[in-house]
Amino acid sequence: MRSIFKPLESSVKQAPKAGFSRPPRLTVQPFQFGIDLGGTKTELIVLDRVGRTQFKQRVPTPASHYQAIVQAIVSLVRQAETSLGVTAQALGVGAPGTPFGLDGRLKNANTTCLIGQPLATDLQNLLAIPVIVENDANCLVLSEATDGAASGANTVFGVILGTGVGGGLVVNKQLVNGPNRITGEWGHNPLPRWFKQKNAMTSRRQCYCGLEDCIETYLSGQGLSLTYKELNRASDETLTAKDIVQTAQSGDEAARVAIEHYFDALSQSLATVINVIDPDIIVFGGGLSQLPSLCASVQARLSGHVFGGDVQTRLAVATHGDSSGVRGAAWLTRPYLGQSLDHPHDQT
Ligand SMILES: [Zn+2]
Repeated sequence: MRSIFKPLESSVKQAPKAGFSRPPRLTVQPFQFGIDLGGTKTELIVLDRVGRTQFKQRVPTPASHYQAIVQAIVSLVRQAETSLGVTAQALGVGAPGTPFGLDGRLKNANTTCLIGQPLATDLQNLLAIPVIVENDANCLVLSEATDGAASGANTVFGVILGTGVGGGLVVNKQLVNGPNRITGEWGHNPLPRWFKQKNAMTSRRQCYCGLEDCIETYLSGQGLSLTYKELNRASDETLTAKDIVQTAQSGDEAARVAIEHYFDALSQSLATVINVIDPDIIVFGGGLSQLPSLCASVQARLSGHVFGGDVQTRLAVATHGDSSGVRGAAWLTRPYLGQSLDHPHDQT
C-alpha cells in the first residue's frame, strides 16, 4: 500500500547516488529502514543515503501470530535506533503478498495470519512514522534499479522465480503501481499456448489463484518439479529444482529436458512482457534465478518470440541476491524522508 503520509515528489526523482538534498532543519542522518517479512525469518536493514549497510538484524518470524509479527518488527526498529543513535523517519516493508485496498490489508500471503490484516496501518500507529508495504517482487526490482544490476537503466522489469512467480516494474527509478495494485504480475497470465503445443503437453495445471495453466504453475520451483515428473513417469519421486539441476549434470535426460522446457517457457512468457513494456533490462531474483546459464539460455531464445526479432533487452541476475528484498524495502522510504524530517508524524 501507499502510506497515508504523502511523499515528496522531488526526492523521488533524484539519482540514487546523488544523495538527498538536505532540508535546512535536518539534524539526523537520513537512514533508510527496511524490513523483509519472510515466512520463516524477519530481517531489518538500515542503509545510509548511498546504500551502505549500517545495521542488519534477523529474527525468526512468529508466523502464526499476527500481533507477535507486528511486535517483532517494532522491536527490530527500536534495536536499530538504539544501536545507531538515530530515530527512524519512515519504514519500508517487503511482505509476502499483495497489499490491496486503501487500508493496505494483505491478501495472498504465504504467512496466512497476515491475510486480511492492516499491517501498514498498525505499524504506523505504533511507530508514528510513514510505513510503506510492498510485495517482495516490487522490493527486488526497486533495489536492483537503484543500485544493483539495473542501475542506470530507465525501464526495469524485475522477476522473481521461486516458490511463486512475481514481477515488478520500475521506470525512471520509480516503482509503477496501478489501481489494481497488480503491476508486473505476469505469473498469472496464461502460459503461451505454443509452449505446450511444441512439447505435446496436454494436461492442465490448476493455479491457487483459481485459473488454469498460469505461467507460475510452470515456472515456479514446484512447476519445474512437476514438469520433470511428467517427463519421467517411471519414477514417483518428486525432485526439487536443485535436485533436478544436479540430476541433469549427472547425465539424466529427463532432467536435462525439463530444464530446457523451463527455458523455453520462460523465454516465451517473457516475450509477451517485452512486447508490452519493452524494458531496457530484466532482472531475475528468487531461487530459480540460480539455474546455470539462465540468462544466456533465455537470451538466445527471445528473438524467436519477441515482435520483430531484434531483441536489445538485457537480462541479468540480481546483484544483491537474497538481500535485494530487504534493500528494496529500505529504498521505499526515500520519498518520505524529507517530509518526515520537516513535518514529523504529520498524518494530514
Ligand atoms: Zn494463477
